[in-house]
Amino acid sequence: MAIALCIHSNIGGTQQPEFWVIPAGLVITVGMAPVFADGFSYIASSVAVWLVVSWGQVNAMLRMDDANWIVLMTVSGFGLGILLNRLFVAERKKTFLVQRELIRLSFKDALTGINNRRGLMETLQDIHAIASAGDFYFLLIDIDDFKKINDTSGHDVGDRVLIEVASVIGRHAEGYPHGRLGGEEFGVVFNGRADAAQAFAERIREHVASLRIAGHVVTISIGMARLEASTDLGDTVRLADQGLYEAKQRGKNRYVLKP
Ligand code: GH3
Ligand code: MG
Ligand code: MG
Repeated sequence: MAIALCIHSNIGGTQQPEFWVIPAGLVITVGMAPVFADGFSYIASSVAVWLVVSWGQVNAMLRMDDANWIVLMTVSGFGLGILLNRLFVAERKKTFLVQRELIRLSFKDALTGINNRRGLMETLQDIHAIASAGDFYFLLIDIDDFKKINDTSGHDVGDRVLIEVASVIGRHAEGYPHGRLGGEEFGVVFNGRADAAQAFAERIREHVASLRIAGHVVTISIGMARLEASTDLGDTVRLADQGLYEAKQRGKNRYVLKP
């Protein structure tokens, strides 16, 4: 609007101000089309610009030789502005949706569809900060002898095992943050008391052990540690890892809760 006012006062000083109304109005209204997210605001602002630019010049414009073109130029300028405005809005919306989808995908594991390490660790950090408000346990889950499955039946079967185990974890951990931390390792943040956390770990272990994939009996080992806001998160994850190590040492296919 300020530009329209400036142009209006500038063209007033020229020899034939009425001649400049259409070019000035067109340049301003078409040029500002990308700025408006809302079509109605754009139309209202365009009308205001045309009123300001043509203020006091309308009679002189109608006396011009090519006055017939005035209406056509104004209407087509309006149309072009609205078209550009809609195109820019649609393009911006598309970019926003693509960006949102990319952000969502950057937290997902491409193979299993559950959260990836980044997705789970961010949630884990958030929960760690409020861990004193309740009982939370971090479960570190690792598929036993997974390399053997890959080596004997191939990577495709290995991938199927990962997908199936992720699906079992996903079904049991519905409502609890969970994800694939990398390779054949998964994590879950359980909310509840120690006995409930152990029963939860046992249910997942049991369900996975009942899977038969390409003739393989699949088992998992689980290390668990309580999340404490006063304990460094890295130390808690290391404690769960120690639990996992102990579970492997004791013969795998079991869980170990570290005190
Ligand atoms: P442990 O019982 O001690 O856990 O032994 P493991 O064989 O399960 O563990 P190890 O670390 O020796 O082997 C893990 C294997 O997981 C090695 C790697 O090639 C495989 N792996 C990692 N990511 C993927 C994947 O995305 N797909 C498949 N098919 N294999 C993977
Ligand atoms: Mg491992
Ligand atoms: Mg393993």
